[in-house]
Amino acid sequence: MRLRVHHLLCVPLYCGHGYSDAFVQNMDQKAAELKRGCKVCLQTDPDEICASCPNLVQEAGEAARCSLDRNHVQTKDERLLTALQLEAGREYDSMQLWKAVRDRMTQEIFEGSCGRCEWYRQGLCSYEKYIAAVDALK
Ligand code: SF4
Repeated sequence: MRLRVHHLLCVPLYCGHGYSDAFVQNMDQKAAELKRGCKVCLQTDPDEICASCPNLVQEAGEAARCSLDRNHVQTKDERLLTALQLEAGREYDSMQLWKAVRDRMTQEIFEGSCGRCEWYRQGLCSYEKYIAAVDALK
């Protein structure tokens, strides 16, 4: 599965909320696959989760991008690659990724990445909840 890096933070805490019915239907499937175990190729641009999102926009002659917060998610993905010592374009097993993320995640990395997100602001996500959710996956 093609996965943008910050979705490693979204998937464990996903609880059925999303941007549209189509988004939720797709996210249900992708989250289940990633939690069961599958091959993953990390990237910093729109992925298979973004594909069903109403926030994904594409103007003529340009690459598709996230319209939220002026595509801030791309910067977030790039910073996370460094912070979590992961590589774009490399194939991982998702279970190996959950372990790596659990070992390397800190409260500072989590808050820095998720602090501006609407789901975080609604109280659906926190560092403590994230660690507990990833522990349940390993
Ligand atoms: S398009 Fe933006 S809001 Fe939608 S899933 Fe992708 S990163 Fe998230």
